Amino acid sequence: MNTDYKSYIAPPNLFAGRIILITGASDGIGRALALRAAELGGQIILHGRDVKKLEKVYDEIFAVDGAKRPSIAVLDLESANADNYTTLASSIADEFGQLDGLVHNASILGELFSIEQYDAVLWQKVMHVNFTAVFALTQVLLPLLKKSEDASVVFTSSGVGRVGRAFWGPYSASKFATESLSQVLAAEHRSSALRSNCVNPGATRTEKSLAAFPGEDREALKTPEDILATYMYLLGGDSKGVTGESYDAQ
Ligand code: NDP
Repeated sequence: MNTDYKSYIAPPNLFAGRIILITGASDGIGRALALRAAELGGQIILHGRDVKKLEKVYDEIFAVDGAKRPSIAVLDLESANADNYTTLASSIADEFGQLDGLVHNASILGELFSIEQYDAVLWQKVMHVNFTAVFALTQVLLPLLKKSEDASVVFTSSGVGRVGRAFWGPYSASKFATESLSQVLAAEHRSSALRSNCVNPGATRTEKSLAAFPGEDREALKTPEDILATYMYLLGGDSKGVTGESYDAQ
């Protein structure tokens, strides 16, 4: 594994000609990722569930000199049905014909409770948004990814996706499952142009981290903009052939 990935310096136009879908692009790490990838020449598809928030990110990208006008894909991962997934894939197929990058970034935390006390309905919701929806979206987008000469799928894990932590039940379980999904996808496509890897962003200053650690010294945390090098490395051609790996962005 290339160990310089955390300090990877993306060349300008790294993503020229590349179509990249980022889930949860309305806020936090996903928003920062979308902006940076657009600055580097990518054609970005901004996924989220809140049109107003997505339009704000759209405007931010639109204001970047030379950036391609992004697309917006609205899909609530909690309630989406099979038709909604198919419609999303069809509209990308109609507009772009293929997909070169897919970053599964959207997720929810749920609540911090012990296994003994965890509400089963909330457990299922967290597993659904963070894991089952990620599988469903990957599956429906695979035909478009396979049309790319160099497709990169990036899944988002967490420290608690590698070592379980008390009270983080379904969030932790969903991230373990995500690590597995990334590895299975990589193994199934070893001899193809499609690669699949996992990134643990590490503690980062976003709304989610504020909810998880209300007492945290926020100023001590890295910002989303600080941790993007690993994502850029994995999404661009410099990581061609790298697959089935798990990375720490910090
Ligand atoms: P945020 O909570 O800031 O952003 C999450 C994004 O996911 C938002 O765009 C949100 O949309 C979207 N989202 C949530 N639920 C749904 C849904 N049902 N349908 C569609 N979109 C949805 O998270 P972060 O930026 O902090 O985290 C990004 C990723 O990094 C996550 O996978 C997280 O687990 C992981 N991570 C983060 C860490 C951190 O310290 N921040 C640490 C380790 C891992 P909306 O704006 O509408 O809410």
